[in-house]
Amino acid sequence: MLLELLIWGFWFALTVYCFWYFFLAKTFQPLTMDDIALMWRLHKQQTGCAASRVPSLLERNGEVIGFRCECGYEFQQKRLITQRVSKARFSRGYAKTVRSLKSCAGKLEEKR
Ligand SMILES: [Zn+2]
Repeated sequence: MLLELLIWGFWFALTVYCFWYFFLAKTFQPLTMDDIALMWRLHKQQTGCAASRVPSLLERNGEVIGFRCECGYEFQQKRLITQRVSKARFSRGYAKTVRSLKSCAGKLEEKR
């Protein structure tokens, strides 16, 4: 009887752990300086933030994972642990977005 209870308890714990790992566990995504600059520019555009100084960087284990703006805004890139698998596809699409955003910003600056 006791053994049965232990086995059920073990399976229950394992199921909960698996669920947590696949759906809830998150880790920080390291960012490049380009990403930081882009996210900061986006933040200033979206919120009308007037900070003139470069935001202070948030670091973890020697990697930049976000920034803190003068206005108190904090940005941290997080992703699910299990999203690592599709990272290549994601970053390629993301790089394209960054590039098109940059050329868009460049055109805007030319017009001024
Ligand atoms: Zn700000």
